[in-house]
Amino acid sequence: MFESLSDRLSDVFGRLTKKGALTDSDVAEAMREVRLALLEADVALPVVKDFVAAVKEKAIGQDVVRSVTPGQMVIKIVHDHLVEVLGGADGATDIDLNAVPPVPIMMVGLQGSGKTTTTAKIAYRLTNRDKKKVLMASLDVRRPAAQEQLKVLGEQAGVATLPIIAGQSPVDIAKRALTAARLQGFDVVILDTAGRLHIDEALMQEIEAVKRETNPHEVMLVADSLTGQDAVTVAKQFHDRIGLTGIALTRVDGDGRGGAALSMRAVTGVPLKLMGLGEKIDALEVFHADRIANRILGMGDIVSLVEKAAETIDQQEAEKMAAKLAKGTFDLDDLANQLRQMRKMGGMQGMLAMLPGVAKMKDQLAKANIDDKAIKRQEAIISSMTPKERKNPQIIQAKRKVRIAKGSGTSVQDVNKLLKQHQQMADMMKRMAKLGKKGLMRGGLG
Ligand code: GDP
Repeated sequence: MFESLSDRLSDVFGRLTKKGALTDSDVAEAMREVRLALLEADVALPVVKDFVAAVKEKAIGQDVVRSVTPGQMVIKIVHDHLVEVLGGADGATDIDLNAVPPVPIMMVGLQGSGKTTTTAKIAYRLTNRDKKKVLMASLDVRRPAAQEQLKVLGEQAGVATLPIIAGQSPVDIAKRALTAARLQGFDVVILDTAGRLHIDEALMQEIEAVKRETNPHEVMLVADSLTGQDAVTVAKQFHDRIGLTGIALTRVDGDGRGGAALSMRAVTGVPLKLMGLGEKIDALEVFHADRIANRILGMGDIVSLVEKAAETIDQQEAEKMAAKLAKGTFDLDDLANQLRQMRKMGGMQGMLAMLPGVAKMKDQLAKANIDDKAIKRQEAIISSMTPKERKNPQIIQAKRKVRIAKGSGTSVQDVNKLLKQHQQMADMMKRMAKLGKKGLMRGGLG
């Protein structure tokens, strides 16, 4: 996410912090580079101008230049402004459900923006995280497969969709969805309106009519991050005409530049609420301005990492693991378990992207073979062993190693490496368990 912008800014600030003392012209020079970096990231020109002017005004002055760590001070000023541009420190706003159920949510956006996928992602999250009863309805009567697509996504996500009746108008479908939701006790109704390749009058009229009829509590625009300033223009047009309450930016996972994310709020005044980070049903996150700013500036996003861990890691598994650790046992099944949890958290790449300073270490990490393929290879090796071998790897003889390597599509060297790694971990666990017991005894006696 936003790697190229992040790399550029890291360079600028790296140079700045290396200098002990800063002059006003050092700061001015850095700001020129920040300006270029933002323009290259496809941030809207007025946003860039305001941003640089505001930072300059704060940064060029006696306080910064005289401070002990002037470089750090400048970075902090940039960080704070970045947060503001992205939506404010406490601007993290999720979908608002604060209304009488069934709460209508209307999804709008151009065709191909990821509207239907995002509709299903939101429904999935409200169902699983918030335990809401959600009904989805596709109002797209122009694309023949559209209603069917939502139905399939609903089945995959375990979310109800309104039964399809051919020949109904979008307004009629919306009315039917609301009535069904009321009668069947749904908490939320998500209306997936039709998209077009471009904004046109017919589309706007159709969406206006649905909005009048359903009085949605949220009107969410889905916009493709990769289209940069086009996404911002589309958002502005939709907002001027329909009135939006929030924006979901999709394909942020593939966006190295970040121009849409950085300009959206400032240009439209509509809050960025959600971002799509992949094609999978759970690849949706709340847009936290401060965390995004941290990522852009290479300061990492520890908070998201911890949250992700809490969401993914199975509590029961964690307790089982803790009990084993207390005893000092750690077999290959445990290692396989850990590898699985890591993969669920978005793999090494996903986790590392959230750690501070890692952006700069990408090449070294690649060399050290710390990647997701390595995790998969290790899992494959373990699953090629018998349960007995997993419990007690000492019994694995040379001949078996050859078989295991063959079975997992790896080499004996890989198998040995994994066994050695496991041995080191198991030894460490044993030492830790001993220490823990000693500590406990001391506590009890003293
Ligand atoms: P719609 O025409 O706006 O309803 O678009 P769809 O929901 O059908 O999405 C179009 C394509 O974009 C599909 O292949 C989705 O899987 C993909 N897509 C949607 N959101 C994301 C995202 O956040 N990241 C990535 N990488 N792909 C996405």
